[in-house]
Amino acid sequence: MLVLMGPPGVGKGTQAAMLEAEIGLPQVSTGDLLRAARRDGSDIGAQAGQYMDAGRLVPDELVVALIKRRLDLSDARQGAILDGFPRTVDQAEALQSMLAEQNRQVDRAVLLTVKENAVVRRILGRLTCASCNAVFHVESNPPRVAGTCDSCGDKLESRSDDNEEAIRTRLATYRASTEPVIGFYRSQGLLREVDGGQTVDEVFQGLQGALNH
Ligand code: AMP
Repeated sequence: MLVLMGPPGVGKGTQAAMLEAEIGLPQVSTGDLLRAARRDGSDIGAQAGQYMDAGRLVPDELVVALIKRRLDLSDARQGAILDGFPRTVDQAEALQSMLAEQNRQVDRAVLLTVKENAVVRRILGRLTCASCNAVFHVESNPPRVAGTCDSCGDKLESRSDDNEEAIRTRLATYRASTEPVIGFYRSQGLLREVDGGQTVDEVFQGLQGALNH
């Protein structure tokens, strides 16, 4: 099991999707799962919505239940690329015991690093496909046809939490709640760091290197 970490907007989703295509393990993003739950009108989605729009973390119980259900699906039996989970030390501990019950474990955690003002710029230009979760950027990675997903042809939109106020809250939440998870994996010798400020392809090379060492 691989864990991809880093602040909002660092490029976890983009890199996880590239890695999925390369190594065949599914990308599992709690953000994508939660957004799908909201669109489906499920109970979990309704409970999560207010936290997400404010840029705050959804309660651990909800997210842990969601990830457990996802990791029990057959395509994740060989492992998965976790994108945006765990985001608290409690979630990291829950993941560890959930995996241990099945004789599985986190094999590597990779932290993508970037300067804070760069992530605000990245997030404000972000365009997302609600159908297939592909991610674009108006400047650095524009779609071939404006407003249309290259992968599935559906409409691209800005996420409801990609506004400046929610981004500031998400960054503060990251510092307070998620940064401690870095130490959790570092102390187990599982952590590698990659400079997320490089081009998409350079980051991907660094990521692949980090998985092999
Ligand atoms: P993301 O797509 O990873 O940026 O996540 C979007 C939002 O979903 C976050 O700002 C949180 O509100 C919520 N979320 C996603 N993953 C988690 C998680 N592991 N724990 C708590 N909340 C989460």
